[in-house]
Amino acid sequence: MKQPTRQKWSERILILAPTDPYGRLAREMLEQAKFSTAMCSTIDDVCETIVRGAGAVLIEEEALTPPALRKLGEQLTIQPAWSDLPLIILTTGCDAPHAQLHTEEALAKIGNVSFVERPFRIHTLISCARAALRARRRQYDARDLLQKQEQAVQRLELLADVANHFLLSEKPREIVGNVFDKISRQLGLEVYLHYLFDPLGNQLQLSASGGIPEEVLAPFKSMSLQQSSIAASVVKLRRSIVVEDVQSSSDPQHSLVRSIGLTAYVSYPLIANDDLIGTLAFGTRKSRHFGHEELMLMEAVCHQVSVAIQRKRTEEALYDLTEQLDRRVQERTSQLQETSEQMEAFCYSISHDLRAPLRTIRGFSQAILEDYSNLLDATGKEYLQRVMSGAEKMDSLIQDLLEYSRLGRSKLTFEPIHLEASIDRILLQLEQEVQSKQATVSVRKPLHVVHGHAQTLEQMLINLLTNALKFVRPGVAPQISIWSAEAENHIRIWVEDNGIGIAPEHQNRIFGVFERLHGVESYPGTGIGLAIVAKGAARMGGRTGVESVPNFGSRFWIDLPKVINSPA
Ligand code: ADP
Repeated sequence: MKQPTRQKWSERILILAPTDPYGRLAREMLEQAKFSTAMCSTIDDVCETIVRGAGAVLIEEEALTPPALRKLGEQLTIQPAWSDLPLIILTTGCDAPHAQLHTEEALAKIGNVSFVERPFRIHTLISCARAALRARRRQYDARDLLQKQEQAVQRLELLADVANHFLLSEKPREIVGNVFDKISRQLGLEVYLHYLFDPLGNQLQLSASGGIPEEVLAPFKSMSLQQSSIAASVVKLRRSIVVEDVQSSSDPQHSLVRSIGLTAYVSYPLIANDDLIGTLAFGTRKSRHFGHEELMLMEAVCHQVSVAIQRKRTEEALYDLTEQLDRRVQERTSQLQETSEQMEAFCYSISHDLRAPLRTIRGFSQAILEDYSNLLDATGKEYLQRVMSGAEKMDSLIQDLLEYSRLGRSKLTFEPIHLEASIDRILLQLEQEVQSKQATVSVRKPLHVVHGHAQTLEQMLINLLTNALKFVRPGVAPQISIWSAEAENHIRIWVEDNGIGIAPEHQNRIFGVFERLHGVESYPGTGIGLAIVAKGAARMGGRTGVESVPNFGSRFWIDLPKVINSPA
């Protein structure tokens, strides 16, 4: 026997009419008027049949005993939100008005009820049934709309979920596989095929697939654009191809999808920023065509996939570039380091070797002055004196250079340095110079403890202090202050003077080797002192710098690492 369709069921009028002849009559009349009906024997039967689908229910009042009424009420309260099943009650008219009123009240609470009094006229019954079914159809419309809305929401949620997922996916292969997992259930998809396009080889390479046996796929793993296939056509046309009713197609392009029993198939181009990345196709065996909404959803997903793959590629390219750049910087740095070490070694050996002839010059000049002074006139002696003082200057220059070079080459061992003790030692060493310049040096104690190489730090501080004593206007007594301050990661040591100051444009360059702002006649020096300060600070993991206002003095600072857990 042929099963009634769902559509028919939803239009049926269920009849529960135990008394004769009205039940039979009602059914005959309705059938004659082309209504579909189903007779029920009990209220349980009615309730079960309602679940399968009904357009309306016609019940004789006699069948609505209190338990039956309760049962029907329960059934109607669990209807879905869109449903308000029409009930037609056949009553006995004014024979028992109280009973009717009671039933009416009880039913009004639970359902959409109309009453038809017996004996009824055909027209009354038919028009009542027609109105009931009309109302029911409206409810079905509302149900369909609701379903569509729910589907739209679900798809939006799915798209959001997919988009969210893309942000976390690492590889294009993963991206596509995970997307398929997410949308296949909702769209009834069983198969996906993802090709990446290689523009250099003009080829398509299979990147990911699902639902297709390996052996079937083997010949399709790599395809030229000349090959007859859906994916190649999609790439060439740069637009999607939908194949409906696949099994009845004889197109050779469809051979793969036909051979695996698909009934509908759609392939999309993956395009981002106008670049063709590849294709993504979906197939099903469950229906012979895709709905408009399904196609729209798959297209939106493919768009997301394109963007995600493009983003991944850009990220990877960026990562590669950064790596390349890092490698280059490292190479250059080590090349530079090597060159600089070679230069320093060269400089060291030259400086070292220069001292021997210098000693000879000084020694023999001295010998001439002592042993042959009677043979020289005053001018000759003065010339020899100049030779000797030039040799001395050169010697101190070489010594400074050697010191600088040694600082770059020697291995330094770090330890906590108590600044107060260091400063006391230095001031003792400079005591004579301080006195001769009538300078005042104030140390703002307590000073901090720093982490570094004590001897190097003392040399750096001596250089700053001798500069502070030296670079003052003639006749001005130097006033020097020393203090230290704690910052988050380091200790800053300050040396402040009331000297001639340094113009802002020179404040960086004075830390370079041989950078001097004045002639030796006004302020003697070799131009290496601050270079030693800068190099020493760098070697101890610190920095140095200056704040200065011309004519008002300078404040030099050295930042050095703190000693962890050490009291000031
Ligand atoms: P030197 O003292 O042998 O000239 P430095 O490297 O110590 O060499 O200093 C470089 C230059 O920086 C100095 O020649 C001077 O022009 C400037 N300079 C250094 N310290 C001071 C200071 N405290 N006040 C003003 N100028 C300074």
